[in-house]
Amino acid sequence: MNFDLIIVGQGLAGSLLAWRLLQRGVSVLVVDNGHRNASSRAAAGLINPVTGMRLVKTRGVEQLLPAALDCYAELEQQFGVKLYHAKPMLRLFASEREVEAWQKRYADPDYASWLGERLTSAELPAGIKGPLGGYIQPQSGYLDTNLLMCTLRHWLQQQGAWLESEIDYAEIEPHTDGVCWRDVSAQRLVFCEGYRVMDNPWFGWLPLQPAKGEILTLKPDRQPFELMVNAGKWLIPLHDGNWRLGASYDREHFDEETSEEERERLLASLNELLIDPHELELISHRAGVRSGTRDKMPLMGVHPEQSPLFSFNGFGSKGSLLIPWHGERMADYLLEGRPLPDTVDIARYQTLCH
Ligand SMILES: Cc1cc2nc3c(=O)[nH]c(=O)nc-3n(C[C@H](O)[C@H](O)[C@H](O)COP(=O)(O)OP(=O)(O)OC[C@H]3O[C@@H](n4cnc5c(N)ncnc54)[C@H](O)[C@@H]3O)c2cc1C
Repeated sequence: MNFDLIIVGQGLAGSLLAWRLLQRGVSVLVVDNGHRNASSRAAAGLINPVTGMRLVKTRGVEQLLPAALDCYAELEQQFGVKLYHAKPMLRLFASEREVEAWQKRYADPDYASWLGERLTSAELPAGIKGPLGGYIQPQSGYLDTNLLMCTLRHWLQQQGAWLESEIDYAEIEPHTDGVCWRDVSAQRLVFCEGYRVMDNPWFGWLPLQPAKGEILTLKPDRQPFELMVNAGKWLIPLHDGNWRLGASYDREHFDEETSEEERERLLASLNELLIDPHELELISHRAGVRSGTRDKMPLMGVHPEQSPLFSFNGFGSKGSLLIPWHGERMADYLLEGRPLPDTVDIARYQTLCH
């Protein structure tokens, strides 16, 4: 079998890159191990343009957000599914320092469209706990990442562009004109395998900072809120009436196992969000590993010595916001040779490759 390009991994990154490349007439084969290691399956899909205790805008959000919204709207139209749910977020203040951070940003014209007014604790929606009050963050929402991946997997299968298999790196043979994997040959191969890039013999030198996360889906026993609520841990009222609660951060264990301790810790965090957090029915519990990076920027580009091999990875905790815009840059780079932004090109870490 002959293809222009092989993509390893059909998480959010591999899915959207394959979709864009096929749209542009490239023949693609996506190989995925059945989403066994997909952080996209565990992800809440939140798009939250202003994050952290200092309330900092994501770098480039003015470009990234419209690209993400356009991309999901285009997919919704093509496939007749609802993927992106716009929902304002209520961010609760955890300390006086956060209140000060909000005051500073709120007075900054650069943040005018990104931060809403302060709500006192008496103005919070009924049932939500927040002694210091909070503020509304507009321009946020969540992506149904599972639906996106299922929809695109089905579409790729229909085009003969999807294969379920674990890729053993030892079976990949790059050569001067391209690359072979088993009986498949291609001109190029792009790794989109998420945190598993740690074991990749060509790209394992990239400075990944993985973080495992666990997340719960709960059945509420009360009227759903209109808003997503964030107080370090967040609660998302989903379109199907359930709630999603997450997420944990663990920088020591890199696997997809869920743990009782983490489940209990997450359930206990409801005490910080709700006035009456009595027991809620657990619908599901998932874990995944985020492929974070040292400088919090993606890892994109060609291998310094093996020209048929590429990386499209390192989207950390913000894949839903970052991948659409960067997927288009990656497609332009692969097909037209347009340079990648220096901030994401893996050439910035070339000295680490030996
Ligand atoms: C608990 C949790 C919550 C999160 N919440 C959010 C959020 O709210 N908002 C947000 O934007 N992001 C969130 N993220 C991060 C988000 O999941 C990522 O940014 C994004 O989904 C990464 O996509 P990816 O395609 O790069 O990687 P992945 O989704 O990990 O996809 C990699 C794919 O490659 C496959 N694969 C790996 N190795 C091989 C191999 N050798 N052979 C074949 N296939 C292979 C895997 O099984 C998988 O299907 C969260 C992550 C976690 C874990």
